[in-house]
Amino acid sequence: MTAQPLNPNASGATDLTSRTCGTCTFCCNLPDIEALDKPANTLCRHCVEEKGCTIYDTRPKLCRDFLCLWHTSDTLGPEWQPQTAGMMIYRQGPQTTVLVDPTRPDAFSREPYASGLRQMAADAEPLGGYVIVFAGDAVTKVKAR
Ligand code: SF4
Ligand code: SF4
Repeated sequence: MTAQPLNPNASGATDLTSRTCGTCTFCCNLPDIEALDKPANTLCRHCVEEKGCTIYDTRPKLCRDFLCLWHTSDTLGPEWQPQTAGMMIYRQGPQTTVLVDPTRPDAFSREPYASGLRQMAADAEPLGGYVIVFAGDAVTKVKAR
């Protein structure tokens, strides 16, 4: 099973502007992006690793509109920066999607991330939400605490 397609506006509108992508290119690598004919866990043909998009000024709207949850939620501390955590997270309706770096497939099961994801699931549950982790071929629904 592949990761969920990237969804524009997936993470909501708030931009924590002090947070910058830096050398992170996870969202140009980990998601399946149908509009770019890009499979999951494959670097977009327009991306240079650790540098970014070579068509930045003309990149598709879904790329312009996307911000991962680390950019939009101040409940995620610096340890959740995607390269640090080994995963990128975004929201898509009731689903919180966690895409794990295939070179660190156990990242989500290590602390503090395992506890953090359980807490995310517990917070989402009363609102009808849930958290799904994609790590390689494994797809896991996170159990709330
Ligand atoms: S995953 Fe988040 S931090 Fe990394 S490049 Fe995408 S938006 Fe920026
Ligand atoms: S078009 Fe640019 S921003 Fe969009 S996925 Fe490719 S490299 Fe990333």
